[in-house]
Amino acid sequence: MKTLLPALLCILFNTQLFAGTAIRDYPADKISKHSYVIHGPKELPNPVNQGFMNNPGFIITPKGVVVIDPGSSVYAGEMVLRQIRKKTDKPVIAVFNSHIHGDHWLGNQAISAAYPDATIYGHVKMIEMINQGEGQTWIDRMNTTTEGATKGTRVVEPDTAVIGKEELTIGGHHFEVIHIGKAHTATDIMILYKEDKVLFTGDNAGNDRILRIDHGSFKGNIETLQVGIDAKPEHVVPGHGKTGGIEILKNYQTYLSTIYQAVAKGYDEDLSDFEMKPQIYKALKAYHSWPGLEDELGKHISEAYLEIESAEF
Ligand SMILES: [Zn+2]
Repeated sequence: MKTLLPALLCILFNTQLFAGTAIRDYPADKISKHSYVIHGPKELPNPVNQGFMNNPGFIITPKGVVVIDPGSSVYAGEMVLRQIRKKTDKPVIAVFNSHIHGDHWLGNQAISAAYPDATIYGHVKMIEMINQGEGQTWIDRMNTTTEGATKGTRVVEPDTAVIGKEELTIGGHHFEVIHIGKAHTATDIMILYKEDKVLFTGDNAGNDRILRIDHGSFKGNIETLQVGIDAKPEHVVPGHGKTGGIEILKNYQTYLSTIYQAVAKGYDEDLSDFEMKPQIYKALKAYHSWPGLEDELGKHISEAYLEIESAEF
């Protein structure tokens, strides 16, 4: 035994150093006739979840599979592919990336390794940011927060830019790409899958999960959700949290507009963001149990404050 231990430690150490590890299978939940969602845990990336915590979706069209947000690492992408193969042997023909945050798209690597001909769509500003180094920043961030579990993942960026006004026919089915401006970030697209009336919101909405706003816009996020509501989807897939109906859009919109309106009022009364916080926290009673609220509320109030202040000039 004594001689085995150092060898074993060495193997463990090398595994940690040179590569991450496979992610366990999560079930693909059927949400409509042709659509599935793999619901990730409602957590931040950590060593236990190995960075996997978003909601990859896939749609089986007559001619192939369309994937939405294949996850946070090459291992998440491989796990998504394993779930797809349990449902169909059709090839992946397209991928949508909802926005720049790496937990949603670093899985591109696995998809493009298995299906080099698949088109990967992303917003033009997302591609710009990746070219400026943001992709590598996300690789490093995921690797740090998971303590090396995503190691081996590399940047595979979208090869086809969209601006958010496209009506695409893919595999014989129809997809509307929606972007009206800054929202959760400057790079978001929502995807409306028309055959089954499914809206994939990216991080413009969380369900039972508060999400960060990162160089985004409260006003833009609220308006983007309104476009989603007006589209009357039958199924709504949030960036994080369970799939449901249109109430997901309304609940998240109410969260954002409660903050935005309270901050606008406080701003008129010359209150500091710090002074506004207790009142706003009280007004958000319905969201007190949502993970992320404690971490994000202070930042959300400051961001809404800056947005309102800059709108005054
Ligand atoms: Zn995000």
